[in-house]
Amino acid sequence: MSTNTSVFPSTSFFQSDVWLFSVYLIATYEIVFWLCNGFLIYIEMFDIPSIDQYRIQKHKKKLRFQPDMVHLMIKQTIRNQISLVFLGPIFYYIFNYIGHVDIQGPRPPWSTILFQIALFILSEDTLFFWSHYLLHTPWLYKNIHKKHHVYKQPTGVTAVLSDPIEGIINQFAVWSILVLLKETHIFTICLWVTIRVYQTVMAHSGYNFPYITTQYWLPDLMPGALAHDYHHQHGKWSYGSFFSIWDQLMGTHRLSTSKKQIN
Ligand SMILES: [Zn+2]
Ligand SMILES: [Zn+2]
Repeated sequence: MSTNTSVFPSTSFFQSDVWLFSVYLIATYEIVFWLCNGFLIYIEMFDIPSIDQYRIQKHKKKLRFQPDMVHLMIKQTIRNQISLVFLGPIFYYIFNYIGHVDIQGPRPPWSTILFQIALFILSEDTLFFWSHYLLHTPWLYKNIHKKHHVYKQPTGVTAVLSDPIEGIINQFAVWSILVLLKETHIFTICLWVTIRVYQTVMAHSGYNFPYITTQYWLPDLMPGALAHDYHHQHGKWSYGSFFSIWDQLMGTHRLSTSKKQIN
């Protein structure tokens, strides 16, 4: 008869793929999310004039750190953080249903990593645009998407604050192509999480930062916060995530800043 009565999982559990996958995925998300948002919360609280010049809605009073908004953001951020604990293992089993995620093997060649990342970006951009476009039809907007549009002046953390159904729709856009791949590696997945979290947090930052944003380098193709801040401010137009291509094709391309604004 076994004498092992410990309530803790055995050592082998902490070396298992499902455990390592969840730890790598959640740690990557948390590091990128809180580094970016730590910086954004700091500049918002201390009102640094040299940074305030980059605020997109400069013509309006700062609203995003009013007490009722802060209360809502804290409540929804705690819910988001708790959901991560469950999402790690759930994603592990979904990703390994059709394909296989290599956790402990050597990193694949950069050609494979970059090809898969390009695939993830292109598929996410298309699925996000169309799901977001549909979320702006009257019934879906009123019952689901409105909760994300409470934030007329978004800040980084609001990127993940929405109705849980919208959260699932967004996760579908982020991961659906990966589920269909035969073989992926945890390194590629963590790199994709880094890119996607950085992109969406910066798009909700409320600032048009130089150098560290896509819109600084490629304003017409990857308008970032200029497009998404406009979307939150007006409650419509500019539905895309990474690229402006679908918005340009559908005639919904609008940007903030006096130079680029089209009304
Ligand atoms: Zn929207
Ligand atoms: Zn948004």
